Amino acid sequence: MNVFVVNCGSSSLKYQLIDSETEKVIAKGLCERIGIDGRLTHKPTGKADVVKEVPMPDHQRAVSYVLEALTDADTGVIKDLSAIDAVGHRIVHGGEKFASSVIITNEVIAAIEECSDLAPLHNPANLIGISACRALMPEVPMVAVFDTAFHQTMPKEAYLYGIPYEYYEKYKIRKYGFHGTSHSFVSKRLLSIIGKENQESKVIVCHLGNGSSITAVKDGKSIDTSMGFTPLDGLIMGTRSGSLDPAVVQYLAGKLTCSVDDVMDILNKKSGVQGISGVSSDFRDLDEASAGGNKRAATALEMFAYRAASYIGSYVMAMNGVDAIAFTAGIGENNINMRRAICNHLGYLGITLDEEANSVRGEEIRISTADSATAVYVIPTNEELAIARETVALL
Ligand code: AMP
Repeated sequence: MNVFVVNCGSSSLKYQLIDSETEKVIAKGLCERIGIDGRLTHKPTGKADVVKEVPMPDHQRAVSYVLEALTDADTGVIKDLSAIDAVGHRIVHGGEKFASSVIITNEVIAAIEECSDLAPLHNPANLIGISACRALMPEVPMVAVFDTAFHQTMPKEAYLYGIPYEYYEKYKIRKYGFHGTSHSFVSKRLLSIIGKENQESKVIVCHLGNGSSITAVKDGKSIDTSMGFTPLDGLIMGTRSGSLDPAVVQYLAGKLTCSVDDVMDILNKKSGVQGISGVSSDFRDLDEASAGGNKRAATALEMFAYRAASYIGSYVMAMNGVDAIAFTAGIGENNINMRRAICNHLGYLGITLDEEANSVRGEEIRISTADSATAVYVIPTNEELAIARETVALL
């Protein structure tokens, strides 16, 4: 089965065509600057990459360029559109309505629309992607895979905030959590590696990238996660502040004589390791600056490690133990120094790092020594493959 995986942003569209039997990527690519001018980068496996500047006034036009590229005599990888058997859409917010992936129907679209209030930047873009694909491939079955769904198993004590209960009831203000597809994919793989797929188990997944979150997974289910009502909460990130005293928002708005919206913009786009270091949101730049003696870059890295280790500690408490920990995403898979810095806080778990194994980047590997009381692994995430698997499973 060939599954077309679509991840739509407000002005972008990422795609992969995956053969579900071999789980190989047949082609992948990206449309950028949709609604502005338009650029398609198409990467067919085994053929040369194509970059095209083409007018993309809307997502439907972007999807039609992608489908043309996939079926083109030179750049194509399939003969015609009948070779696309299903489409899997990444949807950011499923609210409390979706605890798992679903086949897309008109009712599902209406329910995703209702969740748009909770993710005003993302869900409308995801919906545009659905309607663009439906217009061009009306007969092809489609599945929605939600970033929030995996975390719907959290218990009330983990997802409720300490605010009047009526705001949860009326406005659905609660912790939702994000990166669910990645946490689900990596935790499943980790459980299979440690041979605890169908047993009682306690694992922690650290998805550390430009956006970062950590999840406690007990018996295969998310029981707590560091992102909250929005992806701003929890860990310090590339440009996002992570958790902070909400009183800072009012205080800073007063000092800067600006609006709450302006402060939220600062917390989302100008904070995190970028804001602390004044150097970069990219951990490679921070490592370099820190090695060169930049103290603020060093502080940003120490803060990131400390906050990550604090969440791991609180999830060990939540599960009353931990069998194994996995690092994933850009930093988790590649940043040797950050993995070491986080593990240095975890001596109380009997963790000892295997320095040689930890020097490997981007591969699945156990990075704790054989006698380490808690096993630590690097497991590369693959959200597109996870979406393709979910799509096939449902159809
Ligand atoms: P992501 O959002 O998952 O793509 O992760 C982006 C982050 O991963 C950036 O901060 C990068 O600096 C970091 N990263 C990616 N590759 C490497 C690498 N080879 N070494 C260190 N950090 C890396």
